[in-house]
Amino acid sequence: MKKREGFVRTVLGECPAGDLGACQAHEHLFLRAGTPSQSNGDLLLDDYGKTLQELQSYRSAGGCSLVDAQPVGCGRMAQWLERVSRESGIAVIAATGFHRPFMYAASHWIHTASAEKLSELFLWELREGMFLDGDDNWPEQQGLARAGIIKTAAGPEGISGRWETLFEAAAEAARKTGAPVLCHTEGGKGGLDILRFFMDRGVPPSQLILCHLDRIPDNDAHMAEIADAGAWMELDTIGRFKYHSDEAEMDMVRQLHELGHAGRILLGLDTTRARMRSYGGGIGLDYIHKQFFPLLRQNGFLESQLHRMLVDNPARALAQTAGQTS
Ligand SMILES: [Zn+2]
Repeated sequence: MKKREGFVRTVLGECPAGDLGACQAHEHLFLRAGTPSQSNGDLLLDDYGKTLQELQSYRSAGGCSLVDAQPVGCGRMAQWLERVSRESGIAVIAATGFHRPFMYAASHWIHTASAEKLSELFLWELREGMFLDGDDNWPEQQGLARAGIIKTAAGPEGISGRWETLFEAAAEAARKTGAPVLCHTEGGKGGLDILRFFMDRGVPPSQLILCHLDRIPDNDAHMAEIADAGAWMELDTIGRFKYHSDEAEMDMVRQLHELGHAGRILLGLDTTRARMRSYGGGIGLDYIHKQFFPLLRQNGFLESQLHRMLVDNPARALAQTAGQTS
């Protein structure tokens, strides 16, 4: 199928979108100790060797690239992302932007910086280089590796209060650069409000990836509206058995295919310490290649359908066009 022209911004530089290969659209490779890991110990991913090992298994299983969905100021480890990408051969698309409220201490700058200052920060990270610090104080130490995606996330009440300012800043950075936006949804809901917010500010749906849409059952009408609008549906509840089985996940994927929305599906595992095998977790980054896709094949899915979800769609969803980012 025809790929959107352009490139994907990885931590090691521009990659032609068509060269991205098998790409999982939402993972977490590292997260240093701090407020997020104090709130939830499963988020801590701070062993370089273990993450490298995980990426090596991912590569042997057929993985080529992935999105690291941790933004600036809440445990992201930009230097390690760059190093581990070089050493593993896996292309990593890193995130600027912001996360859910629980990721930040009450005294964090995320609660007080102006929308202008925040969009400036996101633009620096997209255009020049990600900051290496920023968890405790306003980021100052800038590295050379650039972010390739803007993460956004609201709490259960949606885009309101302080978080509206953060979304304004993200929309501004997205509009100015054309960088893709990764939008956390609470329990798979509220995607259309997020879409509308960005569209009202001049960011087209094709630039938006809505996460966690498969977290709840019977979400297909919501997903169909998102796909019809031209945004990307991210299914990242694969191998998360506290929500549902892989068979139930497969049924959702089939349903979306039957409704004609296969061209808008992205896949991921939203990995944490509890799911990374090298950290003693339950599945491993190679789970889609080693378990989920074999299940789909056994149940009649075609190779071309799997390729579309894991290779063709990410190349289009993550692509930027030359000239927009500089
Ligand atoms: Zn995540």
